[in-house]
Amino acid sequence: MNKVRTRFAPSPTGYMHVGNLRTALYTYLIAKHNNGDFILRIEDTDQDRFVEGALDIIYNTLEITGLKHDEGPDIGGPVGPYVQSERNSNGVYLEYAKKLVEKGEAYYCFCSKERLDELKNKCEASGKVYKYDKHCLSLSKSEIEEKLAAEIPYVIRQNNPETGTTTFEDEIYGDITVDNSELDDMILIKSDGFPTYNFANVVDDHLMGITHVVRGSEYLSSAPKYNRLYNAFGWDIPVYVHCPPIMKDIHNKLSKRNGDASFEDLMKKGYLKDAILNYIALLGWNPGTEKEIFSLNELVEIFDYKSINKSPAIFDNVKLKWMNGEYIKKLTIEEFNKLALPYYKQVIKKDLDFLKISDLLHKRIEIFSEIPEIVTFFESLPEYSADLYVHKKMKTTFENSLESLEKILPKLESIDDWSFENIEKACMDLVSELGVKNGIVLWPVRTAVSGEKVSPGGAYEIAEILGKSETINRIKIGIDKLKAVQ
Ligand code: GLU
Repeated sequence: MNKVRTRFAPSPTGYMHVGNLRTALYTYLIAKHNNGDFILRIEDTDQDRFVEGALDIIYNTLEITGLKHDEGPDIGGPVGPYVQSERNSNGVYLEYAKKLVEKGEAYYCFCSKERLDELKNKCEASGKVYKYDKHCLSLSKSEIEEKLAAEIPYVIRQNNPETGTTTFEDEIYGDITVDNSELDDMILIKSDGFPTYNFANVVDDHLMGITHVVRGSEYLSSAPKYNRLYNAFGWDIPVYVHCPPIMKDIHNKLSKRNGDASFEDLMKKGYLKDAILNYIALLGWNPGTEKEIFSLNELVEIFDYKSINKSPAIFDNVKLKWMNGEYIKKLTIEEFNKLALPYYKQVIKKDLDFLKISDLLHKRIEIFSEIPEIVTFFESLPEYSADLYVHKKMKTTFENSLESLEKILPKLESIDDWSFENIEKACMDLVSELGVKNGIVLWPVRTAVSGEKVSPGGAYEIAEILGKSETINRIKIGIDKLKAVQ
């Protein structure tokens, strides 16, 4: 068997859609699972869609996610160039299109925009799907020569039969047969001299020795036309692996507008790249076991494209968050702290011991963007209601909370060495002096120092991080608040 060669062939649109990233991942996995080559090809033949900086996004995403290509524009390789506009400058697409013209499998078309618009309108009015009417197929050789010499703009179209059927085989969707009468004579070479995607992908996949073509299911309907091109050239047809669409819910596709459809969006929201990749792997594929957490290497090991699903995959934010939380838990505390720091800095201007805050958050959060809201109280005490002191389970009331705060104050004030242990000792001394349950002291202290109903860490941890003077300050505020409601 030939060495497996797959390619990721993004168009530089300035955006790494989750669907594109999944295609890149599956493409990579198929190659690496078979010890094959993973190739990056840039499909920039649609010059109107070119976006500045788009290439960097593609390179960065592959680099960050570890989907390392073996050949590509930046690293070269034996079948370059790997950018379609560069390949076009070499004249390769026109050369191959002309070969098809010679075989009668393609033809020059000089129809004006007006004529084509008219044709489209007619089709629309009669409720038919637009199809070019082969008007230029009947041009004689000399008519064509004349028009070419007169520099009349032209395109080259595929010449599809109008009767019979074409079948192609997809690894995921099975055999699909279409009536040839449905096949439009699609454009291969556009009037600007660039090839269409439809033509360039076939030529390049062949010339680059691609064995498995992996792409989104939106290309399924064009696949019969690709097969006709392969057959016309007498080339081997690659294995097709079309992947199911990724949906936001059962009715809607993931969309750019919601800000949840791209790799960059997810990274900005504070997801870890490994979690994103792991989650994306499961969008449309499953290993057939309960296991859900996979490193890239593990995926390489077990990925079998034959178990990709046909049905649309739903992008489930809750699941992604959960998975991200699992990845966060696996970080060392130092790694966590480093990643969390920018989020702390968004809301905390004070110089606090961030590593200690990280200790509190490491096992609690699922996504880094949760951090600012959770830690704001370290920067400044929020406005809070005295009702927070009343906690049924803790058996705290306004009265016993006030007593606890008034009595803990001098004990905290007298601590010289402000440490977790000494704060704990002060609180526990008070608990035994009062002969009460821990909560009677700890709940009011925690409430006073955080001003929050829920806080990461308890009274000791928070007081330690805040430091002595801020803790004392907050206890006094708590006392005033409770006095006001007695
Ligand atoms: N350039 C196409 C895209 O970005 C690639 C499709 C394919 O992989 O064949 O959608």
